[in-house]
Amino acid sequence: MTDAPFPELKLFITGPTYIRPEVRAAGALAEFGHRDSENAKRFRPIFEDLGRIADLPDDYRTILFLGSGSTAMEAAIRSLVGSDETVLHVSCGAFGDLWHKISLENGKKAALLSVAPGQAPDAATLEAAMAEHRPAVVAITHNETSTGVTADIVALCRVAKAHGALALVDGVSIFGGAPSDIAASGCDMYCTATQKSLGLHAGFGIGFVSPAAIDKAGHVTARGHATDILAHLGPAAKFQTQSTPNGALGNQMYVQLEYIVKKEGIEARFARHAAMRDTAVAFVESLPGFEPFAPAGFRSPTVTTALVPQGMTHADLKTVKERMRARGYLFDPGYGKLNEALEAAGRQPIFRIGHMGDISPDMLGAYLCVLREVLLS
Ligand SMILES: *Cc1c(COP(=O)(O)O)cnc(C)c1O
Repeated sequence: MTDAPFPELKLFITGPTYIRPEVRAAGALAEFGHRDSENAKRFRPIFEDLGRIADLPDDYRTILFLGSGSTAMEAAIRSLVGSDETVLHVSCGAFGDLWHKISLENGKKAALLSVAPGQAPDAATLEAAMAEHRPAVVAITHNETSTGVTADIVALCRVAKAHGALALVDGVSIFGGAPSDIAASGCDMYCTATQKSLGLHAGFGIGFVSPAAIDKAGHVTARGHATDILAHLGPAAKFQTQSTPNGALGNQMYVQLEYIVKKEGIEARFARHAAMRDTAVAFVESLPGFEPFAPAGFRSPTVTTALVPQGMTHADLKTVKERMRARGYLFDPGYGKLNEALEAAGRQPIFRIGHMGDISPDMLGAYLCVLREVLLS
């Protein structure tokens, strides 16, 4: 295109993220009717590939919501928390807090177990909170995008389930970059989206639901329309969405998921993300005065966070962002509210390196070279 209206910025933010040329091109594939047999040519492989990437137990069902990750998270709350019940949100950052807010906005009784930013929630703390709040449902963030912390959802869901509660997981920023641990955790609804580690544009919320969740939803009233998981099961059984999907994204998703499953390979994709995490953490450790924000053992395979040295401010990080833009990159100067809170507490702010989806180790290496130059000059 000679007069392209927008610059080609390389995105190293935490979603949306880089989209491969083949996936961009797939947006130009033929339009189709979403109740016609053409629909299943795209969406049957999409539903099946999502199940493979999730390593989904046979008795779980997959739902595609029109919307984004928070649509799936809202559907989980609307469909699975009864009006006289408590949902306990385990939060270690902005996205855990967001899910709690979604519950409150839907009129649910929602308790909050907050863990300090940069820390991971642990099973013993959840155990104590279970005794205090006696929740019927527990909601956990798999990968807290604001802090770069990946929680041990297997241990946390086990605590919830040992108390007879349903366990819900927000895996929006990790699904496609690491195992979902749905089978091992026994989680009852796992929520995710297209625009993060799956390397697609935003447009679908994705939900994986257990038999217990389907059973429970039958006892919950006022589940809404687009947020009613039971209403989605009929269309999903035919590889359809409840209402008209974004056809361009459907075509792109078909191409991308077939690539992930058949070409790159799911295990190789997870290994690539783990290697990029190690590269990004080593980069942070190599910068004088900078240190990783997330604790060892809980560092995310999709987003790395770095505490900056004394004297460097959130405002400085916004300047770094503009200098990186001039070099063709979109840098992430940290989650705004978190940096404000850190600075208000007399602490240093953080920045984030998104390395999810189809970003390659070579792309990351080139980015970190430029970032080192900009941060240190
Ligand atoms: C991005 C994100 C969300 C919000 O997802 P949307 O797709 O923007 O609705 C929720 N949780 C986490 C952990 C995220 O990273």
